[in-house]
Amino acid sequence: MSRPNLFGMSTGALAALVAERGEPAFRARQIYAWLYHRRVREVGAMANLPKPLRSALAEAFELRWPEVAERALSFDGTRKYLFRLDGGATIEAVYIPEDDRRTICISTQAGCPLKCAFCLTGIAGYKRNLRAWEILGQVATVMEEHPVSATHPHRRGEDPFPWNIVVMGMGEPLLNYEATVEALRILMDEEGFGVPPRKLTLSTVGILPALEKLAHEPLRPNLAISLHAPDPGLRRALMPIEEKYPFDRVIEAALRYPIPRGGLVTFEYVLLGGVNDTVAHARELARRLGGQRAKVNLIPLNPAPEIPFQAPTPEAVDAFGQALATAGVTVSVRRPRGRDILAACGQLHLQKGAPAPVPAQT
Ligand code: SAH
Repeated sequence: MSRPNLFGMSTGALAALVAERGEPAFRARQIYAWLYHRRVREVGAMANLPKPLRSALAEAFELRWPEVAERALSFDGTRKYLFRLDGGATIEAVYIPEDDRRTICISTQAGCPLKCAFCLTGIAGYKRNLRAWEILGQVATVMEEHPVSATHPHRRGEDPFPWNIVVMGMGEPLLNYEATVEALRILMDEEGFGVPPRKLTLSTVGILPALEKLAHEPLRPNLAISLHAPDPGLRRALMPIEEKYPFDRVIEAALRYPIPRGGLVTFEYVLLGGVNDTVAHARELARRLGGQRAKVNLIPLNPAPEIPFQAPTPEAVDAFGQALATAGVTVSVRRPRGRDILAACGQLHLQKGAPAPVPAQT
């Protein structure tokens, strides 16, 4: 039997563990800070714990992040991480540097059961839900490997490249609710990773009961809804989940979701050449969303041989965006990042003959 992992344990679990050992309650907060704020890799490094407690913990528990099996570096600086999990399943996380911030895209499931027609993750099938420590470990690994460079002078305590986290990797986060929310809680906690809720975005197709629950959590991330069609009929053809959680109810639930700081709900719309990318589609989308506290993020399809769709032309993307803007809908276009290493949206999957891994940045 393997020992339980300290990494991933919630405040409550740590409090129980400390109480069980007859230790004072503040020890739980100390361990929590070492795990998620300082992010040490071994119990021995928890300097303010008495030595006997450290030894006892090291004996009873392990402290472990998921194992990085491969790293791939894109020409644009995007870096993809392949983790090999216990039991052999693999997942991916992506580090995306930008001018004024750094984004980490994380996975919540190994594979995905949703089978959206344009997404490689679904084509590869579904293995299992991730546990909270496997979700947190992706963030911890990427953050550890990308400390703010000493060559960028900045004022004390001010991060010139604040972290953003997007739950947009493999899997459907709201089909793995407990582990995902447990991980998000620790990520957003000031005593934990300290990523402000407005810098964290969860993307979902709109699993309605889970979305309702998320809306009632005390700490909530931003919400992005994968809509991808301007009407239920076309959405059903692209996304089988439409049968279960239909278009109108998903939009309605999303608009009721309390975004941090009164921000807007994002609707993601992957543009498939000749399928859902005409001005007529844009007008219909605007009609359905118009006047609401919503914005649309257009994602030109990242094509792949296994995906039976074409990318839209740049002209179609422009015209679609223009039509939305003219109708008064706030719109942005997502720039593809890391396409050459299959790290862009919808490209995360087990790749045979993937590009050669590169060593970690030093
Ligand atoms: N299951 C969640 C999380 C995945 S997020 C969700 O569906 O929202 C990944 C985003 O990339 C989703 O909006 C997804 O629809 C989109 N996507 C999937 N395949 C894509 C592709 N080939 N090109 C561009 N975007 C894609």
